[in-house]
Formats: sequence, structure tokens, C-alpha cells
Amino acid sequence: MKRALFGGLALALLLTGCGTQSSEAQIFAMNTFMTLTVHSPHAREDVKAATALINQLDRELSVTRPESEVWALNHADGNPVEVSSDTAALLKAALELGEKTSGALDVTLYPVVKAWGFTTDEHQVPGEETLSALLEGVDYSAVSLIEGEDGAAVTLPQGIELDFGALAKGYAGEVCADLLRDSGVTSALLRLGGNIQTIGARPDGKPWMIGVQDPSRPDDPDAVLGSLAIVDQAAVTSGGYQRYFEQGGVRYWHIIDPSTGSPARSGLSSVTIVADSGTLCDGLSTALFVMGREKALDFWRQEGGFEAVLVEDSGEVWITAGLSEAFTPAGESTYTLHIAEA
Ligand code: AMP
Ligand code: MG
Repeated sequence: MKRALFGGLALALLLTGCGTQSSEAQIFAMNTFMTLTVHSPHAREDVKAATALINQLDRELSVTRPESEVWALNHADGNPVEVSSDTAALLKAALELGEKTSGALDVTLYPVVKAWGFTTDEHQVPGEETLSALLEGVDYSAVSLIEGEDGAAVTLPQGIELDFGALAKGYAGEVCADLLRDSGVTSALLRLGGNIQTIGARPDGKPWMIGVQDPSRPDDPDAVLGSLAIVDQAAVTSGGYQRYFEQGGVRYWHIIDPSTGSPARSGLSSVTIVADSGTLCDGLSTALFVMGREKALDFWRQEGGFEAVLVEDSGEVWITAGLSEAFTPAGESTYTLHIAEA
């Protein structure tokens, strides 16, 4: 009893001695519930600063807020618009990923996304003619980004509109992590909806355990098909189960194949990407969902720099070799696991 008491006190003194606090904030931004948890000597201020940064990015990058830079771009009638360094950096990353993924990620898909009603929740199935007319204007390579010493300017040709929905949350997590690391934080978990960004390990030195949602049971957040041990990296999941509507017994989800203008039916039900950069994770989770398992694994073998968990509609799960140690399947999982070798 005495020893237990002493042990507890010692721990409390130790914590006070090194001054580590824990602070958590739950916020709603970028159309998503987010939880920011920071362990540091100044955790409360750190969480405040991260929240302010996320809110600022939401104001700049939102496609539906009339005061945002993206709104200004989409209403510029072909004229150049000066943009902030965040918009420029995110656009640059998006255009590079568009190129790398051969257009599987295309931020100019917005008019098509709108036609399906995913931005307003007034869902509908657009006709073939509407879609093919809208697809004519979809082309990330037509976006011009000019970066100079005094800032950056973007020009969208008439009719082209863009939307960072596929990577803005990943970018937000990444720049928050940069901000927190700069202020000396060595342990934090940022949950931006399905986007996870970690800094370091847990305060006890163990890795963060990140559940991979079972796509067949989307309403139960505890239904995971396995978990990933992550340290100082981001983990982002894209899945058809995350946002969808049903019509005539058919399910239509928010991840669109730019080659058809319709929800990507690639045989995948979710894609989780793990990498250092949250922006890369978010962009690739969407792009690899569009590609399907075979192309996605070929892409991983060619490009590297990230790891992935691919869940197929058939119940097969493909884990890239770099995650074989980090992934622990859930005890009761009905999925069949495969390790993809490089
Ligand atoms: P995510 O949930 O990260 O996979 O992103 C999906 C969101 O990005 C959708 O809600 C759309 O706004 C947008 N989007 C859908 N398909 C694509 C695509 N192929 N390329 C770029 N953005 C897309
Ligand atoms: Mg994404």
C-alpha cells in the first residue's frame, strides 16, 4: 500500500518535474469533426495554435465559402488570382500528384462532383450527356501556377473549377504537425476525420495504434479490420463507405473516376496510406482508390515513399511489405490478408 502510494506520487512529481501537460480540443472544421491531442509543456497553447491554423486553412481552402481563395479562383472568369502560400503549396502538390497518378487524382473534377450533389447533399445521378459535357472541362494540367518572389498567382481557364476536397485535410494535418514540431512538441495525435497525423510516439513511448475501419460496418467506429502502429507519420483512409447515397438500390459514393465522371468502381472498398507527408497520404488514398488493387500496387512498386492497406470488396486485404510488422489484424476479422512484396 505504502509502495503503491509512493509510486503514484513519484509519477505525479515526475510529470510535474518535466512539466508535461496533455490538452485536447474537439473542433468542427473542413466539414469534419476533429480531435487534436497534444502532450507537451505548453499543450494548451499548442492546441490553440493548431486550431487557429486549421480554421485559417478552412477559410482559405473551402470550395463553398464565398470568402475563400478557392471560391475566388473558381469565380475569376479566366483571370489570374493572387493566392496565399498555403493555397500555392497545396495546388503545387495536387498538380504533381495529378501528373504522377496519370490523372487518377484531378482537382479540377469539381463541376462533376457538384453534378452528383456531393457538395450540397442534394444528391442525384447525372445523365451521360451531362457528365461527358462536364468532363470536357476537367484537366488539372490546364491550371497555371506561377510562383514568384512576391507570392504566387493561379489562373484557371474559363469553365475550370477546382476543389481540394481530396487532399485539404491531409495538408492541414501536415502543416499543423510542422507548427507543433517547431514549438517543441514531441508527442501528439491529430484526428481530422479519417485523416490521422501523429507527432512522435505516445507519451509512454509506445506507437500510436490507428484502427483501419471495416468498410462493411461503417456505422460502428469500433469495427476495425486491424490496426496500424504508427510513429511520427500520417495515416489517411479513403473509402466509398465514408460518403454516399443510394438510388434505385445502387450505391453512389463521393470518390469519382476522372475517366468516367462516375463513382470509382475499382473493386476496392477502402484504401489507407501511411507516409511522412499527410498531403501525400490524402492525395494518394483518393487516387489509389480510383486505380484499383493491381494498378495501385504497381504504382507503389514504381514510386515508393509510402505504404498502403488496400481492402477489396471481395474481402481480400493487401498490405504493402513495409507495413507487415506494423499491422495487427483484429481478432474476429473475416478478411483474408495478403502481404504485397516490392
Ligand atoms: P477523399 O475523401 O480524400 O478520398 O476525397 C474525396 C473528395 O475529393 C470528394 O468528396 C470530392 O470532393 C473530391 N474528389 C472525388 N474524386 C476525386 C478525384 N478522382 N480526384 C480529385 N478529387 C476528387
Ligand atoms: Mg484523399
